[in-house]
Amino acid sequence: MKLAIILLVLSVLSQEAYSQNFERMRENMVRQQIQNRGIDHQATLRAMRNVERHLFVPRAQQRRAYDDGPQPIGYGQTISQPYIVAYMTQLVNPGPGHKVLEIGAGSGYQAAVLAEIVEKVYTIEIIPELGNQAKILLENLEYDNVEVIIGDGYFGHESEAPYDAIVVTAAAEYIPPPLVAQLKDGGKMIIPVGSPFLVQTLMLVEKQGDRITTKNLMPVRFVPFTRKE
Ligand code: SAH
Repeated sequence: MKLAIILLVLSVLSQEAYSQNFERMRENMVRQQIQNRGIDHQATLRAMRNVERHLFVPRAQQRRAYDDGPQPIGYGQTISQPYIVAYMTQLVNPGPGHKVLEIGAGSGYQAAVLAEIVEKVYTIEIIPELGNQAKILLENLEYDNVEVIIGDGYFGHESEAPYDAIVVTAAAEYIPPPLVAQLKDGGKMIIPVGSPFLVQTLMLVEKQGDRITTKNLMPVRFVPFTRKE
C-alpha cells in the first residue's frame, strides 16, 4: 500500500516535471526563435505561448517539438518551423471576430494557433488520415472553434466564404483563383508559391475592392500542394 502511494506520488511529480519542461522549452522558443526575429504581434505571441506544440508531433519526437525547424508528422508531411507559423499568423493580422480558412491542416497546429486568436477557423486537409487525427486532437484539446474538413483545398470552402484571412501551408504552383475569390474585401492571404521540392516564395495577397495586390516576402520550403486525381 505504502509503496503504491509512493509510486503514485513519484509518477505525478515526474509528469509535472515533464510538462513544466515543455513549458520552459516553449517559452524559450517564443523568445529566441520568434521575438528575437522581430515578431511583435501580441495575440500571435500569446497564441504561440499557449498552444502545446509537443502534442501535435508524433510521441517519439516530442522532445524535438520546440526545435528551430520543421518536423515530420507522417504521410510525408511536416509541421512548419515555429517561426514560420508565427510569421504567417502575424502577417494575416488575425483578430477577435475573424473567420479564417486554412489549407493544409496537417497536424492541426497552425489551426490551433489561429483558433487562440480568432472566432472561427476552417481547415482543409487532403490526406484523410491526417485530417481525422487533427480533428480528434483539436477536439480533445477543446478547440471548439475549429472545423476540420477533408478534401482538396484548391476550391476553398465556399459555403462559409468570405474569409478575413486565408493561410495556405502547402506550396502551390500558382495562387488558386477560388481562394482569391473567397477572400473578404480588405482580407489577406498568405501562401507559398513555387515548384515543389525547390525553393518557393512566401507571398502575401491582399484584396481591396477589385484590386488584388501581391507581395513577395521571403524564400521558403513547404511540402507540395497536391490535387485529387
Ligand atoms: N498547417 C500544418 C502543416 C501541414 S504541411 C500544421 O500546422 O501541421 C501541409 C499540409 O497540406 C499537408 O498535411 C498536406 O497533406 C496538405 N495539403 C497538400 N495539398 C492540399 C490540398 N490541395 N488541400 C488540402 N490540403 C493539402
